[in-house]
Amino acid sequence: MSRIQTVSRYIALSEEGLVPRLECPMDQGLLMPNTTMDDKDYLYCLSCAYQNFIGIKFYEDLSKKIKGAENG
Ligand SMILES: [Zn+2]
Repeated sequence: MSRIQTVSRYIALSEEGLVPRLECPMDQGLLMPNTTMDDKDYLYCLSCAYQNFIGIKFYEDLSKKIKGAENG
């Protein structure tokens, strides 16, 4: 899976209640993934201006949670 696919898969699982939702720390809005023109991935909040650039550690963490949810 590509990095953005990993995030999308995680969000799909969270909508089924299998993993915790990705929530905005400011207003608990839903976070969505996007990529900048120079290929940096970030999460942004649907309801406020919050943005957070994400790194490899974040993907590893999501991948583990996805595997846990799919095997459990
Ligand atoms: Zn927000």
